[in-house]
Amino acid sequence: MNYQIAVLKGDGIGPEITESAVRVLEKIAEISGRSFQFTEYLIGGIAVDQTGVPLPPETVSGCLSSDSVLLGAVGGPKWDTLPPEKRPEKALLGIRAALGLYTNLRPAKLFPALRGASPLRESVIGSGFDLLIVRELTGGIYFGERGYREGRFGEEAFDTEAYSVTEIERIGRAAFSAAQKRRGKVTSIDKANVLETSRLWRKTMHRLAAEYPDVAYGDLLVDNAAMQLVRNPAQFDVIVTSNLFGDILSDEASQITGSIGMLASASLGDGVRGMYEPIHGSAPDIAGQDKANPIAAILSAAMMLRYSFGLSAEADRIERAVDLVLEAGFRTADIMGDGGGTLLSCSAMTEKILEAAGS
Ligand code: NAD
Repeated sequence: MNYQIAVLKGDGIGPEITESAVRVLEKIAEISGRSFQFTEYLIGGIAVDQTGVPLPPETVSGCLSSDSVLLGAVGGPKWDTLPPEKRPEKALLGIRAALGLYTNLRPAKLFPALRGASPLRESVIGSGFDLLIVRELTGGIYFGERGYREGRFGEEAFDTEAYSVTEIERIGRAAFSAAQKRRGKVTSIDKANVLETSRLWRKTMHRLAAEYPDVAYGDLLVDNAAMQLVRNPAQFDVIVTSNLFGDILSDEASQITGSIGMLASASLGDGVRGMYEPIHGSAPDIAGQDKANPIAAILSAAMMLRYSFGLSAEADRIERAVDLVLEAGFRTADIMGDGGGTLLSCSAMTEKILEAAGS
């Protein structure tokens, strides 16, 4: 099978880290006999500079005709004063909408070698944690009816949340099938003691749970979930939740790993095509200096293999290579911490991961 991958490098450190991820995928192709074909398209500030818009139509059609999309990051001070529709970040919403990506997967895993970077105490971290947040990405309160009106106390603003059974079902199925590829546990997070949308969410999730007897299922209220994430993160495997709750909880979960340069994400829709990107931004402060941590981008490529192409063994190989390199004490500047280690540039870290992937 020949997989077509659209590569959107973007701005700042985007090109450096995406190049690292592409090199790792090329290495995997060489080892496994798979074939990946990469085609680059413009997105973000560089697209504004070269074409006048942050998301050129060729980028959208290129992504639509690819099997999957690898994205670096967009944005930077150069484009910060542009009108909203020209802002590089606008391209992210545009490409997600164009590709129909309603599921956001964000793993938060504690790398044993980086325990010291977590803000959690040793006794809380225990033997570590490895969870996946499945966030609904295109519905809920971020997309509901909103506005201003005259209220009881004068002018007021309002936002509304609406979720259909169809929207809940499709994100639920994404969570259950992700759990089947992991440790087989789903926790659905809602506010069913107060919100009507949450009550429909919970009812629908319960119905789905019955269809996945191989997956253990539980509900948790969002206020409790926020506490449990910092009290005992190891209890979670897959968390599924709405757009708003997922936005907040996924940032909380990423913080407890202690390292923004390590965290990957995937946005998925109905088909196999997804968009894979690090959770961090374009880091203009270190762009072009070969200092960026390429691991989040490399792990995003591993997610692509796992979730879009079903190549779990190859994804495992990449993740193992990252573990090995960290265990051996190699670090980029952002993850040096106090524990010492050998400081590497972005390109040198990539070389180490390539070596480890090939061993
Ligand atoms: P950022 O994530 O780019 O950077 C925050 C801090 O983390 C910086 O000190 C940076 O040097 C560091 N950092 C981030 N990634 C790193 C990596 N891989 N290796 C080492 N250090 C890393 O967030 P910001 O500074 O708030 O935003 C910068 C630009 O990125 C803005 O224009 C913002 O709009 C954009 N942004 C884009 C995305 C995206 O493309 N998905 C996401 C967030 C922010």
